Amino acid sequence: MGVHSKRLNLKTQGESEILDITEKVSAVVKGSGLKSGIACVFTPGSTCAVTTTEYEPGLLSDIPAALERIAPKNIQYRHDEKWGDGNGHSHVRSALLGPSITIPFDEGRLNLGTWQQIVFVELDVRPRQREVIVKVIGEP
Ligand code: ZN
Repeated sequence: MGVHSKRLNLKTQGESEILDITEKVSAVVKGSGLKSGIACVFTPGSTCAVTTTEYEPGLLSDIPAALERIAPKNIQYRHDEKWGDGNGHSHVRSALLGPSITIPFDEGRLNLGTWQQIVFVELDVRPRQREVIVKVIGEP
């Protein structure tokens, strides 16, 4: 049983940017030297998210559009009344998508679907410096 972890640093351009981090996460799993186990990909932030999708232009615009229908920007949020940072909708969207995913791997390779990429979703209203923690647990 082994445990390995690494922090990835990301720079985002602002709201609704979706970054493909599959290669970076795969590299951490390979670098761990572990053959079989699980990789937890977590971001310590409440206005961003980690999930999976097919990384293609249609979805990169469909996902933000769906989030706009679920938690619209131009409605009132109690969070904004209290903090005035104008990102109540960002926090709600983040809570819905979630801050982490866990992916199993075998032979040092993530068990992702052919059209399934790991993505970081920026939901805040401004560019941010972000961190993603990849924690790998498994057998050598
Ligand atoms: Zn806020």
